[in-house]
Amino acid sequence: MEDFLLNENEREIKYLARKTVKSVPSDLIRSIESENEKFPREFIDINAGANILGLRYPKIYGGRESSWVGDMSAVEEMGYLGFTLSCMYSLGTIVGEPINKFGTKEQKEKYLRGITSGKLYGAEAITEPSGGSDLFGMMKTTAIKKGRSFVLNGQKRFIVGGQGADFFVTYAISDPSATNRTRGVSAFIVDRNTPGLKVETMYGLMGNKGGGTARIVFKDAEIPEENLIGDLNGGYDVFNIMMVPERLTTAAGSVGVGMAAIEIATGYALRRKAFGSKIIEHEGVSFRLAESLTALTGASALVYEASRVADELEKKKVPLAYARKIISMAKLTSSETMWSAVNNAMQVMGGIGYTTVYPIERLLRDARLGLIWTGSSEVMKMIIQHEFVKEISRPEYWNNRRNVEQDALDFKLVEEKVYD
Ligand SMILES: Cc1cc2nc3c(=O)[nH]c(=O)nc-3n(C[C@H](O)[C@H](O)[C@H](O)COP(=O)(O)OP(=O)(O)OC[C@H]3O[C@@H](n4cnc5c(N)ncnc54)[C@H](O)[C@@H]3O)c2cc1C
Repeated sequence: MEDFLLNENEREIKYLARKTVKSVPSDLIRSIESENEKFPREFIDINAGANILGLRYPKIYGGRESSWVGDMSAVEEMGYLGFTLSCMYSLGTIVGEPINKFGTKEQKEKYLRGITSGKLYGAEAITEPSGGSDLFGMMKTTAIKKGRSFVLNGQKRFIVGGQGADFFVTYAISDPSATNRTRGVSAFIVDRNTPGLKVETMYGLMGNKGGGTARIVFKDAEIPEENLIGDLNGGYDVFNIMMVPERLTTAAGSVGVGMAAIEIATGYALRRKAFGSKIIEHEGVSFRLAESLTALTGASALVYEASRVADELEKKKVPLAYARKIISMAKLTSSETMWSAVNNAMQVMGGIGYTTVYPIERLLRDARLGLIWTGSSEVMKMIIQHEFVKEISRPEYWNNRRNVEQDALDFKLVEEKVYD
């Protein structure tokens, strides 16, 4: 994000994140890549030391009360470390947000403070084996009330931090009789040490190593009723708020990943020679870099706009549906742009870009996930078109707006306007 678009606090956060990113030892990234490091807690400690975890939370819980713009400017910087670490960084914001918005004082005291101090690491256990896109429709995990507890049964798939996290924010069916599933699901906090919580499959992944990505199983996992987030059967509302950081962080991190690749490729093109000149002097190379840079700058601008919209949502100045549309656009654009930018970077670097001599191959493998998780590109498009159709179907949308359709030369030929 352009520095001049940020206020003083946001700039300070961005620079702090940049400095922290610079301080992360390359050996840590190499050790994650070679799968010696399965879940790099050290990275959380580095961020806790820099006091940049849970940036948005109230100061009484160790946060900085940052705007979304400030927080996302930090995540953009984290993207330079690749998706594993930028995701690991972002999870504090993702799982903390529902607690911040819906949680009790006790939950905030324990979990928000735990996140900002680096003492507790939270993960999100949302996706199930039966489906991620149609989560509410396909959900099978149940949470049945028993005295002053809830008993959870079911399983959650592809959970980053499945191995390594201290607690999970999860969703389960709490009212199996609800005809509308969005009114029969609740959100919960499940501590790692809950009896009945087991880590099963550890996934072998194409990229994004080191996230401890696992399937976790709840078998009669009994949690205290105090671990309910928000209202009983109010999980859908919690989920919608959680999706703000979920998608914004992927969008912001993607810009950083793409920029890292383009910087490496540009540096390479400035030195590498072919046909008597540096390859950057060949338009086929330099235009590819220029196009990627332009697209990434556009994506970053959209992340900025979406973050501003999220800030307006906080002030209740825009409806959630509008914020959801813009945030989905940012996630869709950024992740797709990142993918093509890293791919372009690899092309510019030729064969050496495909090797582990440069990190482009890692960034490429990492980048592919951006189009799938936190809502796939298709799901983002569904949300965007759905919200837009709703917007333009409201008569007030057309208040003071020109009806361009009537500018057609033969606008009055109504008998030619046949729709079925
Ligand atoms: C490495 C990794 C880490 C992850 N981390 C987490 C995590 O920490 N926590 C968590 O809860 N989840 C996590 N996920 C899960 C991720 O969010 C889901 O994989 C994703 O939402 C897609 O769900 P699915 O895999 O069940 O695919 P499905 O929902 O089965 O979809 C399959 C395909 O069908 C398409 N599709 C579905 N419906 C439609 C439609 N109506 N129109 C057009 N296309 C459609 C999808 O876009 C997709 O291409 C992770 C996944 C991976 C691979």
